[in-house]
Amino acid sequence: MIIRSLALFDRFKCAGSACRDTCCVRDKLVLDNKTYFEYQRVIAKGDAFGRRMVASISERNGVASFRMRDNGECPFLMRNGLCELYVRLGPDRICETCRKFPTFAKEYGNYREIGCSFSCPEVLRLVLTHPEKFEVRVRENDTEPVSFSNLNAKLLPLIYPVRDRFLEIAQDKRNTLRKTATVLLKLAAEVQSVIDRKAYDELASLIAPFEAGDPMGGITGEEPDAEVCEVLFEKLLKLHTGFEYKRQENAARISRAYKTLRPESFEERRARELDFAWYMNNRVYEYRKWLFYLLHRDLLDVVFDGKFYPRVRFAVLTTLCLFELGSLEWKSRDKQFTPQNQEELFRNYAREIDDNPKNVARLYKKLNGSAYALPKLILALSNPIKKPTDGAAAEPLEEPVEEPIGEKAAETPAETVETPPVEQAPADEAPDGSPDGSPQ
Ligand code: SF4
Repeated sequence: MIIRSLALFDRFKCAGSACRDTCCVRDKLVLDNKTYFEYQRVIAKGDAFGRRMVASISERNGVASFRMRDNGECPFLMRNGLCELYVRLGPDRICETCRKFPTFAKEYGNYREIGCSFSCPEVLRLVLTHPEKFEVRVRENDTEPVSFSNLNAKLLPLIYPVRDRFLEIAQDKRNTLRKTATVLLKLAAEVQSVIDRKAYDELASLIAPFEAGDPMGGITGEEPDAEVCEVLFEKLLKLHTGFEYKRQENAARISRAYKTLRPESFEERRARELDFAWYMNNRVYEYRKWLFYLLHRDLLDVVFDGKFYPRVRFAVLTTLCLFELGSLEWKSRDKQFTPQNQEELFRNYAREIDDNPKNVARLYKKLNGSAYALPKLILALSNPIKKPTDGAAAEPLEEPVEEPIGEKAAETPAETVETPPVEQAPADEAPDGSPDGSPQ
């Protein structure tokens, strides 16, 4: 089996008790059978801890899960932020979900893809302090490939280089973020058309111009239309006010952002976005990381359901939405927006929207509506960002930064639990909220 992982995550260390937003708070925590069997042995001892375990685990239809506290905390999360099961029973006897988080793995025939979830603050800290491109590490082992009856084996080897090209485009600093978005959307529409026609051999020709070094691959935008652009972001934000949020403060934050944006005139919106774009000029890589994260995690799932374009649209529009939310937050913070503010924004978005199947399904469905049809998106994205005081100035481009901007020392936790990336069970399904729709 060929295993592909992101080298950066080899450096991941769980912050343990020092975590700013522990993953031990969640709606549900299902126990895998092996761990539950281990716990039965602890329970059989009949001591006080065993009795507490009985009270903390519920079983329904043969599926065991922890009874979370009213505030969503795991019943074994101690006041010092550590896991009581980890401390008492050791790292091998915590459940599979906790052992593997934030690492995830997906399998596609003979390939296994490994990444890390952006809902973990430590993962984000690593990502945001490393502006350089993600490096993909490839190794091989002799694990037998998992066979999937619904995997398109003909498409798999041909879509792999296409997916990798999309990852390159997402990280190519020669284009502005909007140009990157334009290229990805237009190219994805062409890829989708080839897949729909089952003309898989044509895929290589679509990415050939990029292989030759053209950052736009011959793709162009349209005549700019400022109004279309500003309406798009207003719609996108309004859509987010209707989602389900676990934390009230996150719902309030989104609705505050929308209320800030709504009364602005088109000119005011434009000026805010322009100023923010210049403020973030050498930090645009932060948005590219988000874009990369979703494309890397989701695109290969096309081999199960044939949906390529909707996944690219989801990745592009959530990236642009985060940019808009960032600019509104920057405005409300007296024109300051630190990497820590960004980490919080990405983490909350990952947990509230991207990790919630209901919200993801709703977003996929809405993005398939006519308001987000490809020609409208391209028109909106073609609106160039120019420095307001100098109409002739070039669009802000990221300054090429080769070195990490100083790997911030992790706030050294009192006790650090090391969690090396662990491979997860194969994912044999398309993402929740099965993407639907093709370019309109
Ligand atoms: S895995 Fe990530 S979210 Fe969970 S406790 Fe560790 S640092 Fe925090």
